[in-house]
Amino acid sequence: CGIVGFIGKEKRATEVLLHGLEKLEYRGYDSAGIALINEDELKITKVKGRISALKQAAEGVSPASVGIGHTRWATHGEPSKENAHPHQSASGRFAIVHNGVIENYQQLKEEYLADVRFASETDTEVIVQLMEKMYETVQDTEEAFRKSVRLLKGSFAIGMLDRERPETMYVAKNKSPLLIGVGKGFNVIASDAMATLKETDQYVEIHDMEMVLVTTDEVTIKKFDGTTVQRLPYTAKIDA
Ligand code: GLU
Repeated sequence: CGIVGFIGKEKRATEVLLHGLEKLEYRGYDSAGIALINEDELKITKVKGRISALKQAAEGVSPASVGIGHTRWATHGEPSKENAHPHQSASGRFAIVHNGVIENYQQLKEEYLADVRFASETDTEVIVQLMEKMYETVQDTEEAFRKSVRLLKGSFAIGMLDRERPETMYVAKNKSPLLIGVGKGFNVIASDAMATLKETDQYVEIHDMEMVLVTTDEVTIKKFDGTTVQRLPYTAKIDA
């Protein structure tokens, strides 16, 4: 039900994600989790229940400069640790958080993923398994991501990490809220500016059917057909 992401020069991902998820608690959720990359290792921590339990579970996790976090409001699959996000692809290379509902997840599963063993009952896992399939064919993360999100029907705000490309956070949106927060030496993503106002008040709006490549100092917005979109940040005026 909520998404937060951080990418920056400093290894502050864990604190920014956990603080952001706490700010999103008011929306309601049944489970929560974070994915972090450090030293080319992708580390996922998730729990059924409160952010306080996630905080405890994440104690001792090595500091990271990139990460994505999620609070889940279950739509497909019961509330459980297995069904909590982030979800990982079969090889463990890609990790994803998702808000919304993928309406054609069953068709995608049958058409592209008949040979894949799924670790959860969520519609979300289909996205990340599809991502890995596409990558096997095109051998390019951005292109595989674009091909994958183009196939999705329904609502989604997506944050994705590639263990082999920790310098980029991959984002896509359709009918679910998602913003990019612009900072100095870092950028964040959030489903609600409230989650990351402590970090920045500069936000870039993302429209439906757009994807974004977010690095430490760049935000590149593209339509699903690959054309680049220019959009300036606005100043969020909310009392945090
Ligand atoms: N449909 C997804 C699930 O059930 C995402 C739910 C959400 O937006 O939190 O896991």
